[in-house]
Amino acid sequence: RKAVIRITTGSQALDELLGGGIETLAITEAFGEFRSGKTQLAHTLCVSTQLPINLHGGNGKVAYIDTEGTFRPDRIVPIAERFGMDPSAVLDNIIYARAYTYEHQYNLLLGLAAKMSEEPFRLLVVDSVIALFRVDFSGRGELAERQQKLAQMLSRLTKIAEEFNIAVYMTNQVIADPGGGVFISDPKKPAGGHVLAHAATIRLMLRKGKGEQRVCKIFDAPNLPENVQIFQITPGGIAD
Ligand code: ADP
Ligand code: MG
Repeated sequence: RKAVIRITTGSQALDELLGGGIETLAITEAFGEFRSGKTQLAHTLCVSTQLPINLHGGNGKVAYIDTEGTFRPDRIVPIAERFGMDPSAVLDNIIYARAYTYEHQYNLLLGLAAKMSEEPFRLLVVDSVIALFRVDFSGRGELAERQQKLAQMLSRLTKIAEEFNIAVYMTNQVIADPGGGVFISDPKKPAGGHVLAHAATIRLMLRKGKGEQRVCKIFDAPNLPENVQIFQITPGGIAD
């Protein structure tokens, strides 16, 4: 039986909200509007995952699947320095791939599984998990097929998390919620419907606060209180 490892987000408040950090053997989803901090959290986790376990890291390598072209190696440098790590060593331990179609995204996951069986990875980032599906299945009447392919890909992510003791961090977009639903003041909901909702172990809703402040809320977790925490995006990554 594999032991869960909790990887720090860089913010104590956020770590507390998560029960110590993002977990291996699980899928953490972050959804929120443009500039809410989803990708910045991914960059911070790329570094913190490489910290030793006693410093709340995962002592492991990182795989990064980028569907939007927003990964910035330059951004890793000040984050690594903030954690007292050698930036070039940190960059060397991030395996990066850009995906251009949902099939490409799926095939990259198959290739990663082979790598992960050989080397100690602890984090897999998929930023964003759904963007290509929304492009590749944009026609009317394609929703059922999209959801089926999305389910297939999410089940690969679950399998990777469990087989290799990986923390999967995936980002998601928000879409207009015609019903309004629980978001009375903000009629938006995560994309991907029930398929995505069921795949995620924990769902985080991010939104902008004042300046570089961001707000994170645990969304829809039956066994966790609906707590809210505030964090900051700083040059050194996510912080309090
Ligand atoms: P999302 O992925 O949710 O669209 P991002 O994670 O890309 O959003 O967040 C973008 C925001 O991060 C920017 O609007 C800016 O406020 C902040 N940010 C980016 N880089 C830095 C930095 N070096 N220092 C401070 N804040 C930054
Ligand atoms: Mg982003």
